[in-house]
Amino acid sequence: MLNLDYNLNSMRKKIVAGNWKMNKTAEEAVALVKELSSILATEFKGDSTILVCVPFPYLTTMKELVKDTSISVGAQNCSQFDWGAYTGETSAPMLASIKIDHVILGHSERRQYFGEDGKTIAAKVDAALKYGITPLFCCGEQLEVREAGKHFDLVRQQVAEGLFHLNAESIQKVVIAYEPVWAIGTGKTASAAQAQEMHALIRQQLAGQYGKAVADAIKILYGGSVKADNAAELFSCADVDGGLVGGASLKAREFAEIVKAAR
Ligand code: PEP
Repeated sequence: MLNLDYNLNSMRKKIVAGNWKMNKTAEEAVALVKELSSILATEFKGDSTILVCVPFPYLTTMKELVKDTSISVGAQNCSQFDWGAYTGETSAPMLASIKIDHVILGHSERRQYFGEDGKTIAAKVDAALKYGITPLFCCGEQLEVREAGKHFDLVRQQVAEGLFHLNAESIQKVVIAYEPVWAIGTGKTASAAQAQEMHALIRQQLAGQYGKAVADAIKILYGGSVKADNAAELFSCADVDGGLVGGASLKAREFAEIVKAAR
């Protein structure tokens, strides 16, 4: 019998995005990308989008380095403002001016350590979209929220606050990353069943707001201790369209194996 879920999943091209966070010197960054691109040049046969989201100072160098490879370069944040007296900030038009086309927004570390709330993240999503940059919009619950059985409510609230001001055309330009906070950098991965359950819920919520066709077109990545040995199982879930990978993206071989697991 035709498996419709599988077919829809396979229509959405997968994305594997590395989030380097605040790691690597310039020299180490160059070495990592060179090693990754040389492994992928010989071993990667798929058509997934491969992204490395690197610290701001390395964006231009990395763009140049990956020019003729299968890798794209993204940023890890941007301001909600376009220009002006916002010391220390980097704006979406700045990123667009150096041809960066993906940016991570609303990562749990930005929410937790830099006080970013739903309203700010929604404004950042708008800023990125205004300049043709794809937001990788992150959502996910803390351990105590899951233990209290409130994880579905919280994630639904984050998605609604951050994205539901968008119209049906704009929402399709967003990639959602479900990242349970208890799984980020902890080595504790959500099981494939837990990931699929939340991804299906997010897609159902999107369908309720925008209709099924729109919901089926939106990519939802899983993030939280994705490794070479769990990636294939996670990525095979019907509603998991790839991964946002932190720690394991800092090692070329490990990240390459994760990329290869996305089919
Ligand atoms: C992340 O920071 O987005 C992440 C998923 O980290 P890790 O893979 O290290 O858990």
